[in-house]
Amino acid sequence: MKTELKKIDSSHIDEDIVERAAAIIRAGGLVAFPTETVYGLGADALNAEASARIYAAKGRPSDNPLIVHIADFADMERIAEYMPAAARLLADAFWPGPLTMIVRGNDRIPRETTGGMDTVAVRMPSHPVALELIRKSGGYIAAPSANTSGRPSPTLAEHVAEDMDGRIPMILDGGPVGIGIESTIVDLTEKVPMVLRPGYITLDMLKKIIGEVEMDPGIIATDSVTRPKAPGMKYKHYAPRADMILVDGEEEKVVKTINALAKDAEDSGKKVGIIATDETRERYGRGEVVSIGARQDEDAIARHLYRILREFDERNVDVIYSESFATPRIGQAIMNRLLKAAGHQIITV
Ligand code: AMP
Ligand code: MG
Repeated sequence: MKTELKKIDSSHIDEDIVERAAAIIRAGGLVAFPTETVYGLGADALNAEASARIYAAKGRPSDNPLIVHIADFADMERIAEYMPAAARLLADAFWPGPLTMIVRGNDRIPRETTGGMDTVAVRMPSHPVALELIRKSGGYIAAPSANTSGRPSPTLAEHVAEDMDGRIPMILDGGPVGIGIESTIVDLTEKVPMVLRPGYITLDMLKKIIGEVEMDPGIIATDSVTRPKAPGMKYKHYAPRADMILVDGEEEKVVKTINALAKDAEDSGKKVGIIATDETRERYGRGEVVSIGARQDEDAIARHLYRILREFDERNVDVIYSESFATPRIGQAIMNRLLKAAGHQIITV
């Protein structure tokens, strides 16, 4: 299959291009498109065969449910068994935006889309291209991140092309995404809502709107034994090809430890990558050093993370040493992705 890469300007959307993409989706095909979090790989969420194509293109395990993207709140009511009061409150506060809500699904949603579950994850993205595509496609686009299963999520259309070229008919290129890590997922099917995946919308932001909210213990555990509730969170996601080790602690000690580890690895013939910050990059004497941004700039850290992991893949590094970024707001989301990329290898100094 030949993959068409179409540039699209978010502030002057070319309706003809979006209509062509929507026609592919309505016919049961796949289109990759930009959202504000990461690029998505979209199909008609109400079409079982179309959803099945997503799993095939990504090599995604069939028990890992897809998020259904909508452009109108009323469309959520049409696929939900019932609507918890919290859904309206959270939608008013955060939609369109990087929050996914899980509710009980009704039988309009095929089990192929929900990975066999009787619940359904729903999100209204804020990216104008995504919203336009959803509207023109019939209202419901199932879309996981547009990477091959196990690779870092795509934050540029070029990343999508690396993984999906020849596998899907069209990629809409809206340039770099704004946030760079996947949506926060909150499960509204239990008595106390529970965050199943941390993201840009933090636990505190949710609590301000709906009161009591818990964090799934499985996603903040630094071990790899405590199991997360969201099926997708158990896989070694977001992983670069290189072995990755995080070093956490006071800055001075972290730099010293990474320099020592890098020396040992290079002495044994390994190619080393180092994830530093603007503040520390000059202090690493060896390896391929990249800065993820200024330590205070959490948004930049989130936005650059997956691109850096992909670039290290391209440069064929054998081992990546990374500083740790437990920053105040989205630090938990960033650390969740980093720990998964590192297969939970973390050294505290
Ligand atoms: P991705 O689209 O790649 O960001 O992956 C979607 C994430 O949402 C995965 O971690 C899924 O396990 C999670 N998810 C989707 N639907 C559900 C659901 N019904 N219940 C629990 N987790 C879900
Ligand atoms: Mg994903």
